[in-house]
Amino acid sequence: MSRTDTVLIAGGGIGGLTAAIALGRKGHPTKVIERADGFGAIGYGIQLGPNAFHMFEKIGLAEDMLRYASLPDDILAYDALTGKKLLRVPLGGAIQERYGQPYAVIHRGDLHKVLVDACNRLGTVDLQSGCELTSFEDVGDGVRALTSSGESLEVAALVGADGIHSTVRTQILGPWKEEPIGYAAFRRVVPMEEVPARFAPNSVVCWCGPGFHLVHYPLRGGKLFNMVAVTHYEPSDDPEVLPKRLLEGYSRSCEPMQALVQYMDFSRHWPIKDITPPSSWSRGRVAIIGDAAHAMVQAMAQGACQAIEDGVQISECLERRDGDYVGAFEDLWHDRLLRAMRTHYLSRYVWEMIHVDEGLAAFRNEMLPQTSDMGWLEKLRWLYENPTEHNAAETAGYFAPVVGTA
Ligand SMILES: Cc1cc2nc3c(=O)[nH]c(=O)nc-3n(C[C@H](O)[C@H](O)[C@H](O)COP(=O)(O)OP(=O)(O)OC[C@H]3O[C@@H](n4cnc5c(N)ncnc54)[C@H](O)[C@@H]3O)c2cc1C
Repeated sequence: MSRTDTVLIAGGGIGGLTAAIALGRKGHPTKVIERADGFGAIGYGIQLGPNAFHMFEKIGLAEDMLRYASLPDDILAYDALTGKKLLRVPLGGAIQERYGQPYAVIHRGDLHKVLVDACNRLGTVDLQSGCELTSFEDVGDGVRALTSSGESLEVAALVGADGIHSTVRTQILGPWKEEPIGYAAFRRVVPMEEVPARFAPNSVVCWCGPGFHLVHYPLRGGKLFNMVAVTHYEPSDDPEVLPKRLLEGYSRSCEPMQALVQYMDFSRHWPIKDITPPSSWSRGRVAIIGDAAHAMVQAMAQGACQAIEDGVQISECLERRDGDYVGAFEDLWHDRLLRAMRTHYLSRYVWEMIHVDEGLAAFRNEMLPQTSDMGWLEKLRWLYENPTEHNAAETAGYFAPVVGTA
C-alpha cells in the first residue's frame, strides 16, 4: 500500500462505507477497517429521509436502495395516553414530488448489503473486518495507523467513522463527554402476520408519552413489523427495573399501546446517548464523520442520514482541494456544520417534545395539530431539499422551533 494516496477509514458502519464508496468513485484508493468480525448490521429497521437519497443518487446507489426499501405513506404521531392524533407528515408520492426523492424505511441488513456490494464492485475499496484501529500518528506527509493485530498501515489520511465511542476523536480531541440522557430502547422485528392488521398501516407511527414513546413501521414491503420502544430510566443492576418502568407507562396509555406490549422483546436494551458535538472535526490529515462527530438522539431519524451526507461531502471536499487533505478536512467541517448542528439541536428539542408531561403535553397537543399536513412537509425543506442546492444562509437563518402554524 502506498502512503501517498490511500485513505484509511476506521469503522465500517453506514458513515464509513458511504465515505468509502464516494471516495472510491472519485478514484481514491480507500481501505476500510472494521473491528467486528464482518461487515453487517443489527437486524432492525431504519428510516432514511430524502436527504439520504439525494446522496445515494450522487453515488449511484438510489436504485439499489429502492430495491430493498419500503415507502411509507406518512408519519403519524399520537398522544400515547389519549390516542389523540397530533400530526401527519405526508410521505409517499407527496414527498417524492416535493423534494425529488423518497422517504424510505429499510432493514439495516439490506442497507449494509447494498453498501458492501457497492464497495466490492468498485475495485478501489479494500474492506478488512476483524481489524481494530488502536492508535495513529501524523507523520507530516501521511498517517501511520496501528491496529489491534499489531499491523502498521502507512496511509495518506485517516477518517474516523468509528461511532459514538470514537477512538479517533479521543486521540485528536481528548476524552469526550457522551451524554446518556436517561432513556433506553427495546427493539424488535416480528413477522407481520403475528401482528393484528390494525397495527400495520403503511405508516411510520410514533406514540408520544410522558417519559416514554413507541415507534413502529412495516419493513420489507410489509412482511415485517419493526418496533422501537423507549422509556426513561435510571441505570440499575436489576434487569427487571427497565421493563417494569416501560410497562408502568404503557398501563396508563390508550388501548393500542397496551395491546402492543405483548410483541416486545425485553431481553436486550440500548441506552440512548448523544454527544455535545465538538467544534472541530479534524486535525491535520485526520478527520471524524458520522456519530464520531455528532451522534444525536433518534428523534428526527437523522443520525445515519447525516453520516451519509458527511461521507459524500468528504469526497467533494477532496476533489475541490485537489488532494490537499488538511484543507479538505477543514472544509468538510465548514460545509457540514450548519446542517449537522441544526439537525442535532432539533433532535434534542423534538426528543423533549415527544416526552413532556402535564401542562407541556397539553401545550404540545394543542400546538401540533395546528400545522397542516403539507405545512409539516414545508417545515422540513431545509433538511430534505438537495443540500448541495440549498443556501447555507437559509439553513442558518431558519432556526425557529418546529412547532407553530404553517
Ligand atoms: C434506536 C435507534 C434508532 C435509530 N433510528 C435511526 C433512523 O431511523 N434514521 C437514522 O438516520 N438514524 C437512526 N439512528 C442513528 C443511526 O443508527 C446512527 O446515527 C448511525 O448508525 C451512525 O453511523 P456511523 O457509521 O457514524 O457509526 P456506527 O454505526 O456506530 O458505526 C461505527 C462502526 O465503527 C466500528 N468501530 C468502532 N471503533 C472502531 C475501531 N477503533 N476500529 C475499527 N472499527 C471500529 C464499529 O464496530 C461500527 O461498525 C438510530 C439510532 C438508534 C439507537
